Amino acid sequence: DQFGIKAALQNLGLKAENSGTSTGTLWINTGKEYISSYSPADGALIGKVQVTDRQSYEQVIAKSQEAFQIWRTTPAPKRGEIVRQMGNALREVKADLGKLVSYEMGKSYQEGLGEVQEMIDICDFAVGLSRQLYGLTMHSERPGHRMYEQWHPIGVVGIISAFNFPVAVWSWNSMIAWVCGDVCIWKPSEKAPLSGVACQHIISKVLKENNLPEGISGLIVGDYKVGQMMTEDTRVPLISATGSTRMGKIVGQAVAARLGRSLLELGGNNAIIITENADLEIAIRGALFGAVGTAGQRCTTTRRLIIHESIYDNFKQRLAAAYTKLVIGNPLDEKNHVGPLIDKEAVDMYLKAIEKVKKEGGKELVEGGVLSGSGYESGCYVKPSIIEAENHFEMVQHETFAPILYIMKYNNLEEAIAMHNGVPQGLSSAIMTLNMREAEAFLSAAGSDCGIANVNIGTSGAEIGGAFGGEKETGGGRESGSDSWKAYMRRQTNTINYSTSLPLAQGIKFDI
Ligand code: NAD
Repeated sequence: DQFGIKAALQNLGLKAENSGTSTGTLWINTGKEYISSYSPADGALIGKVQVTDRQSYEQVIAKSQEAFQIWRTTPAPKRGEIVRQMGNALREVKADLGKLVSYEMGKSYQEGLGEVQEMIDICDFAVGLSRQLYGLTMHSERPGHRMYEQWHPIGVVGIISAFNFPVAVWSWNSMIAWVCGDVCIWKPSEKAPLSGVACQHIISKVLKENNLPEGISGLIVGDYKVGQMMTEDTRVPLISATGSTRMGKIVGQAVAARLGRSLLELGGNNAIIITENADLEIAIRGALFGAVGTAGQRCTTTRRLIIHESIYDNFKQRLAAAYTKLVIGNPLDEKNHVGPLIDKEAVDMYLKAIEKVKKEGGKELVEGGVLSGSGYESGCYVKPSIIEAENHFEMVQHETFAPILYIMKYNNLEEAIAMHNGVPQGLSSAIMTLNMREAEAFLSAAGSDCGIANVNIGTSGAEIGGAFGGEKETGGGRESGSDSWKAYMRRQTNTINYSTSLPLAQGIKFDI
């Protein structure tokens, strides 16, 4: 136990077998099935988590509804105070939780710590927000009338999250939802269930210390079947789901069928345009981290480079040379740059994608492949690959959740932007240029069609202060900063008559 995993698990309250259903500090044990969580780092079994069955789901819902009665009328700044304490509780366990995230999901320890830092940051953001849930005041057209709007909590928020940000994405949703007065039920990814259980332990302790109802934070565990219990449930007015476009299309339709609200954060196919006016040093660094960081398993991972033809050969050689310096290995060992993929199924998809794109005419500039031998026993370690391809190739149009980077050339910026936007997804994007006209064109209404557009920064690594999300098949949802909180509340328009008569709007006369 070179990396202190055992101690971390213990500090986080995890055991060999854990209940996966909880409302606050109450852990419900009616399920019969278990999910085994294996580490992609070394292939070891970390622990088991019980799957939520219908009976325990009903208990979670009942507790949530009960808790909502109290939480919705707790003043928002008081709710903020609870979230402040949650942020402090996360600060205390940052190292342990970061380690678990790294070990269970496979991202580097640095990135695991970064993920917990993001949770702490969103707590701070939410605390401030708890005094700023502003509505507008309008001028009424009727004399002696006042009109304004206010934002009320919406109710039980169902959170479905992906494996690649096993804890941060939940906190983007839950911390904001909680200051808004909602209660939350979280279904973490079945590929990282222990991270979910660990967070529930941290949060429930804070709720208990403050004598707050258990149902403010609920946890359910399992695969899509458990997710479906929430998506089909009219008692859950908002479903916030993060994951693949395939999942989003099913979840979006299920929630729409009952006219519920959904907030979808789905797949990306992010590109960087590198113009002849780029600072190549910055462009190489941005492209490298964007493409191979988290082993290509970020929704914002750089998947395509669109490079001006005049610098194409030079750039591709320098990038390929940088790839030879990458050290691949155990994510907990800080000397490694690239960790494993989440599981062998992901390795299989990676291999198939390379095979398919080569059949379509792609040329491997930096060869991929699966690593074997000492340190790679889990079978989940792959080599980051660079492939020269064309934008219209089927595989280039598709998000493969692995470190495969497609590179292509362009001749003029208009063509580059058309290629850039010429994919079904619209999450993150970037341009590398020192030319103001090029940068502004990329950010203009005729430029990038993505939810995130950067200049001289890669596509990954967003800050929590901005609204996060994307267009087209990325699902249209926005989470985290700016005014994303509005998605977690219902708006009410109020008109008050303090005059002695009853004038009708639009001057309508209705006298008897
Ligand atoms: P996934 O779609 O396989 O699973 C995501 C979650 O959805 C899991 O919890 C899963 O159990 C649940 N789910 C799947 N089908 C469901 C259904 N029919 N009903 C209810 N729940 C269902 O995704 P993944 O492999 O865990 O994550 C990778 C994907 O997530 C990538 O496409 C990535 O781009 C995307 N992602 C997007 C963002 C974003 O903010 N846009 C962030 C992180 C990840």
